Amino acid sequence: MTFLISAPSPQADIILWNGKILTVDSEFSIEQALAIRAGQFVHIGSNQEVLTLKGSETKIIDLNGHTVIPGLIDNHYHMLSKAVDQHLGVEIALTESLEKMLESIAAKANKTPPGDVVYTTSGWMIEQLREKRAPSRQELDRASPDNPVVVQGGHTLYLNSQALKLAGIDRHTPNPPGGFIGRDTDGIPTGLLIDNAMFLARGLIPTPTFDQKLDALRVAQKKENSVGITSVREPGLHPKDMRVYQRLWQEEELTLRVSMNLNLDHHLSAQELTDYLGQWGVSTRFGDPMLRLDGIGEFGLDGGFEAAWMSQPYFFSEAPSPFYGLQRIDSEKFSAVIKAANTLGWRPSIHAVGDQAIDMLLDTYKQAHKIDSIFGKRWLIEHAHYTRLDQIPAIRDLQIFISTQFHPYMSAGTMKRHWGEKRAAQTMRLRDWIDGGLTVGGGSDWSLVPANPFWMIYFWVTRDTRLWGKLGPEQSITREEALRVMTINNAHLTFEETIKGSIEVGKLADLVILSEDFMTIPEAAIRDIKALCTMLGGRIVYVDSDSPISID
Ligand SMILES: [Zn+2]
Ligand SMILES: [Zn+2]
Repeated sequence: MTFLISAPSPQADIILWNGKILTVDSEFSIEQALAIRAGQFVHIGSNQEVLTLKGSETKIIDLNGHTVIPGLIDNHYHMLSKAVDQHLGVEIALTESLEKMLESIAAKANKTPPGDVVYTTSGWMIEQLREKRAPSRQELDRASPDNPVVVQGGHTLYLNSQALKLAGIDRHTPNPPGGFIGRDTDGIPTGLLIDNAMFLARGLIPTPTFDQKLDALRVAQKKENSVGITSVREPGLHPKDMRVYQRLWQEEELTLRVSMNLNLDHHLSAQELTDYLGQWGVSTRFGDPMLRLDGIGEFGLDGGFEAAWMSQPYFFSEAPSPFYGLQRIDSEKFSAVIKAANTLGWRPSIHAVGDQAIDMLLDTYKQAHKIDSIFGKRWLIEHAHYTRLDQIPAIRDLQIFISTQFHPYMSAGTMKRHWGEKRAAQTMRLRDWIDGGLTVGGGSDWSLVPANPFWMIYFWVTRDTRLWGKLGPEQSITREEALRVMTINNAHLTFEETIKGSIEVGKLADLVILSEDFMTIPEAAIRDIKALCTMLGGRIVYVDSDSPISID
């Protein structure tokens, strides 16, 4: 993309001065001031230099020493679905006890007409609950005697008896391929559904209307701006949900730049999937800086922490041992889809959590590469939680990028329980990845709105977790590296490094003014950093009402 900079008028629209500008350019230069015109950075430098661009109409912001960073990019955030869940469901992501979870469900059920399904948000983990266990079917029956209940976990669902009945799941229902139904000693379903078994009950959660989605997104994008986010990548959207974003885009209501992955249905055959991709006249990189198509994804090869596909058996599992996790897509189907995607110009961005799933992904990408080079196409592995060291050169040699998250911060307990201490400590090995020459972008995959990026940065820098102490501290990265992950690296990930991701002349003026000095604040306080002001293309999209600096 090229920008026309109107040379004759040197006057800036906005000047930020007297601050600490972390440009995140290749040298990680730190400057005092910046000027914005027509939505782009036109100068970055000393106070003196930048103030020469001041004209009668120029808005001047005195940063009073505060730090400015490029607008933050969350490259893996299911924003629409989380926004809708929070809008219509029971919020339980940060619940401290099972008792409280059941109380929240009971309160919602009391207000819901009998027979209507009550459901929760996901994002909570058993280990964060005081009782250290999930709700039983019987407990959910007591909390909600007149309504079916679906409690959403990460890769699990917990149903009450009415919900099981409504989903048609009983003792005769077989485990679907790539899925598992929890059963008691008599073979009666306990209400637990793992991975592909979740599809048996997915239909129970009421489908929100277009307007409900639109409303939920309007609220959610503002919340994201309030934590410094200026771009998100949706890892998997149905076309009908792309329309919700398109509506906001055409009404010029978007206050976030959005990249959209196309979701592929696991149930379709290889032929149906390749035909489906072929019907699209557009593919990866289509769009503009506000709304664009990304790749295909997540098209999960394996499960989450409870069922990631591993080369070594699980330490603990609900499934019979030895358990190696679940392969959710067969190799032939996956290979056919990836080859078709390559021909049709779609960039795959595939969920692979366990090392065995990563092996399968690498094999398949390599096959596709032999037919038509994937160099420079920035194909992705989503998550890559447990990468073996020997896989790193293979990833680098195919020029594959890693899209990482910060799951251990919220769920280290679950990882340790299922994978054992050693494997858990080696998850999300950002240090090894970066030292091994990989490009790493980052996102939240968070279940809350907003998804606070400073929690992610905190985890990557300290490896400290919410409740379980430090996890593999030797994998920590520097603040500078963490900031790169959330800005310029993510811009690379969506082929937008020439227009955003750093504060450089000619780039879109996406920035955040921070409450603290990011580079010097004690590590422990990183997670409490706040955005004082967020700008998108030079437009103010958020101002903290308690901001100590005058912005309006
Ligand atoms: Zn995933
Ligand atoms: Zn995801």
